[in-house]
Amino acid sequence: MSKRETDYIKFLNNLSEILSKKISPFNTILAIKKLFKSYLKIEKSDFIIWDNDNFRLNEIGDLKVSRNIKRNYQMNMLYANIAMSDGGSFYLNEEEFPCIFNESDFYNIKNSIAEENIIVYPLISNGDLFGIIDLRIGDQNIEEEFFRVINIASKLIAGAIINYILNEQMEISLNFYKAMKDIAKIIESQYELSYIIPLIGEMIDRFMSAHLIYIFIYKEGRYNLVWPNACKDQQVYRLLETLSPGRDYVLSANSRIAALPIEKEEGILGAVVAYSNIEKLSQKDIDYLVQLTRQSGLTIQRANMYAEVLKYATMDALTGLNNRRQFEMRLKQEVSNSKRNNKPLCCMMLDVDYFKKVNDTYGHAAGDCVLKQVSDVIKREIREYDIACRYGGEEFFIILPQTLIKEAVLVAQRLRKIIEESKMDIQSAGVDDIRYINVTVSIGVCEFDSSMTGDMFVQKADKALYEAKTSGRNRVIVASLN
Ligand code: GH3
Ligand code: MG
Ligand code: MG
Repeated sequence: MSKRETDYIKFLNNLSEILSKKISPFNTILAIKKLFKSYLKIEKSDFIIWDNDNFRLNEIGDLKVSRNIKRNYQMNMLYANIAMSDGGSFYLNEEEFPCIFNESDFYNIKNSIAEENIIVYPLISNGDLFGIIDLRIGDQNIEEEFFRVINIASKLIAGAIINYILNEQMEISLNFYKAMKDIAKIIESQYELSYIIPLIGEMIDRFMSAHLIYIFIYKEGRYNLVWPNACKDQQVYRLLETLSPGRDYVLSANSRIAALPIEKEEGILGAVVAYSNIEKLSQKDIDYLVQLTRQSGLTIQRANMYAEVLKYATMDALTGLNNRRQFEMRLKQEVSNSKRNNKPLCCMMLDVDYFKKVNDTYGHAAGDCVLKQVSDVIKREIREYDIACRYGGEEFFIILPQTLIKEAVLVAQRLRKIIEESKMDIQSAGVDDIRYINVTVSIGVCEFDSSMTGDMFVQKADKALYEAKTSGRNRVIVASLN
């Protein structure tokens, strides 16, 4: 075997090996360029993939190219205008460059100015040309075998690129459906906008990782930012002014900012804005955003509706405990009972430790599972006439009528211990591999005395809870008397 033939074989072997490795497209291409150089003496090789929708090419490094095919009707010929990322562009027509348009194996053109051979190989998938390999081979003598080898190489490379793109697209659409589902699911257990909007924001943000996401609510003639905390860019506000109902989105002139109205039956409820300093939004990004925004609008509207209905409810929807409104009422009653009858009264405030971490690690659905189970423990462990309430997100309040402080502390200790020892089942949240997690709670306990108002009673329990937190969590602290 000649040296040349051995090189061909080594080239193809190394190529298959590189393509089978899971490395980034950019590094793959660098490695392939090296192979072309060392085994085939090709000094310069370029991989050009059409970047019709700006979607997949950034990764392939400096090879951003867009192709615009036009037909010249007078000459009945197709033209491709190819714009390179370095600002240059060139035209190719069908006659001189048939591989761009047809399925020919390769095309060899002599660049008369640079005195070099240029070989162009099409990258084809399902008969669809999606790129070219552009090889500058200088003035070396080309034999038939050389073409055959490059021909095989270009097919291997085309296959690998298509695989990569398909995988990437599949991953994106999986993430997209997950984001849609997550947004739709929020409402099953939550109806407070102050909780829902950050969740929606985070979900869209996670999906649109190259862009910052802002959420605005339209109120009294202007857009008020509700997530995250700040948006200083005036462009965003100017763009928001151009929103109108019935139009899916508006784009800034440089296509880096998109504003999408969150609509309600009549008019605009708010807006989602995707913002980037660097990356343009592709049509695909925009399509995703339109759908995510629509889903968010539905969720927000349903939340508003629930909130309206629940104004009259006494029960917290997630946990089945008394809600905050009911808590205020029952507290008043028990305080006045205690004063009137001179009967002991205690309360405790309970807060799940590091709960944000549960949400962040396993998702808010898992967080909700935990809240339900903590509530179940509370319901099971207190007496019939104790009043358990969901005070806020992961905070609970228990009013214990006719209870002395030492009894209240025993209840608190028992609750703390049982929760610490309970395996919280998060299976229904659909977290892979993990079924049970553990949480702890901190509890502040307080005894009422007749000099206090209801508010002071709550504040003292809250202060004791705070002490339980700062002194290490997973503990019970009794409020001091003064
Ligand atoms: P600490 O030990 O100091 O209490 O830490 P923490 O992380 O529990 O405290 P923090 O108050 O910062 O976090 C409470 C979190 O609870 C933030 C909020 O996103 C989450 N949360 C509030 N309401 C709900 C809810 O209804 N469901 C879920 N899953 N999470 C909630
Ligand atoms: Mg907490
Ligand atoms: Mg808290």
